[in-house]
Amino acid sequence: MKKIISFDLDGTLVHGKYGNMVWNHGIPQEYSRKYGMPFKEAEQLIRHQYEEVGEANIKWYHIEYWLKRFDLPVSAKTLLDRFESYIEVFPDTKEVLEALKNTYTLIVASNAAQIFVQKELSYANLTSYFTHIISATSDYCMVKKEIRFYEKLCDTLSISPYEIVHVGDHHIFDFETPSQLGIDAYHFVPDHKDSSNQSHTDNGKTIHCLSDLLNIL
Ligand SMILES: [Mg+2]
Repeated sequence: MKKIISFDLDGTLVHGKYGNMVWNHGIPQEYSRKYGMPFKEAEQLIRHQYEEVGEANIKWYHIEYWLKRFDLPVSAKTLLDRFESYIEVFPDTKEVLEALKNTYTLIVASNAAQIFVQKELSYANLTSYFTHIISATSDYCMVKKEIRFYEKLCDTLSISPYEIVHVGDHHIFDFETPSQLGIDAYHFVPDHKDSSNQSHTDNGKTIHCLSDLLNIL
């Protein structure tokens, strides 16, 4: 029997545009100001540097690392606060959490650093739904790409992989990796995304609305 439902945060409970604004707008804007470079050029340069590091590398997620690397005169907190109005909860998130909260223990398992996770959950008034709010990169110093992450998650929660359901929008981090450990994982592909270019076979493990979970569990 399932006991715990684990959710990814960005792109799953909350729209991914907030992170996008901080990383792909806020940081290039600061860079452009400091070095007198046109925004478009700064944007390209920074995107290129992010790509060189890559999302499988823990550095990718540490905003302090990037602010230091680019020597930008702004704190992470200021940047995160600046774009808070872009934090947008998906329409059915609260309804789903409300429906599940009395039957299951709900947790967040995100790759984003705690500073982002805390900011998003508190701004969106979601914090109280979760007994554990785990950042793979801040709390475990690893990326969800590794099976080790999900093993450690199960250890932390004192639970078997078979008793946990995980849902998230990244095919590898949220679906393939937890599935390998025996976690019942679901790949969340929001309706508005074009799913025709998804080469992955479905097997009933893709959901297009978070509320689909209510029919599955
Ligand atoms: Mg995500």
